[in-house]
Amino acid sequence: MEKIRLGRTNLFVTKLGWGGIPIQRVSEPEAVSVIKAVVEMGMNLLDTARGYTNSEHRIGLALQEVNKPVILSSKSPVKTEKIFDEVRVSLKQMEVKKIPIYHLHAVSHFQDYEKVMGAGGAYEGLKRARDEGLIDYIGITSHNLSVLERALEEGYFDVIMACYSFLEPEAAQKVFPLAKAKDVGVITMKPFSGGVIEEAGPALKFVLATPDLVPIPGSETLEKAKENWEIFMKGGSLTRKDKERIETLRKEWDQQFCRRCDYCQPCSEKISIQHILGLQTVVKRFGPVAQELDWFQSLVEKARNCSECGDCLQRCPYQLPIPDLIKKNLAWYDNLKTLNKKN
Ligand code: SF4
Ligand code: SF4
Repeated sequence: MEKIRLGRTNLFVTKLGWGGIPIQRVSEPEAVSVIKAVVEMGMNLLDTARGYTNSEHRIGLALQEVNKPVILSSKSPVKTEKIFDEVRVSLKQMEVKKIPIYHLHAVSHFQDYEKVMGAGGAYEGLKRARDEGLIDYIGITSHNLSVLERALEEGYFDVIMACYSFLEPEAAQKVFPLAKAKDVGVITMKPFSGGVIEEAGPALKFVLATPDLVPIPGSETLEKAKENWEIFMKGGSLTRKDKERIETLRKEWDQQFCRRCDYCQPCSEKISIQHILGLQTVVKRFGPVAQELDWFQSLVEKARNCSECGDCLQRCPYQLPIPDLIKKNLAWYDNLKTLNKKN
């Protein structure tokens, strides 16, 4: 089973890790059995976050019942040194004394980056957690590759987490070589582009073929976890058929897939464009519970105010037809609500 060294952490992790978003949407016993199974299969990197509702807790429950060493990775979006308290909550939820890797979660803009790195910022909170032996290594996650580039240049982080898939391959040019040069570990999220890609084979083979990184596809069913594991264990490069499928999907999604870079901001109506364009993915990944969350409802309601001013269009480097895509996503959501009411 292939393992890689996660940069200067010197941790050796299986080249396929596991992400803890999807287990929020199944029952607790189901979630626990999936987590136990992935550990028994051999995956030794489990990633979760304070923001993934019950995910940490469920990992904690599963770990009581397995006897294999795992490397835990969690994260919090808190931008101040109060993140220290979040680390304590994560420890409690997972019932462990230490979390090897703890990230600053979703540092999306330079403004956020400056806040977390400044006096009283979250980086100081994580340094304190490290000094007190609650965590070993500090990481940073972002959908914005420019933020990750800066983080790598400045050298404060042991691990970075970036989006990487065949629909979103830019990190391979923009950040992976720099991470290697700086001996920083790379964990990659969203190998299926947040649920947009449905075929596991081409998607996983694509990311697994890139050296020195660990993708962390999530799985909420045993079937899905096994499928991913089998693709990994079987190895092998992309077949001609895989490549053709990748090309087809790239063409299909080229003008629709939001890379969540936020270059289109600011929006005068304060619409969170990347989230509204990813509405279907949010519902798919978080399950029906997403619709009951205040932030989700507010996201949808704000999007209804799009004035079609077009300012965002000029800023999107991928030329996405943003106002049209907003309308399309809102129509999809309204239809879903109607269907839910009927059922
Ligand atoms: S077109 Fe809509 S989403 Fe884009 S900037 Fe204008 S109001 Fe915001
Ligand atoms: S709409 Fe375009 S600019 Fe905005 S987040 Fe998506 S890809 Fe980036």
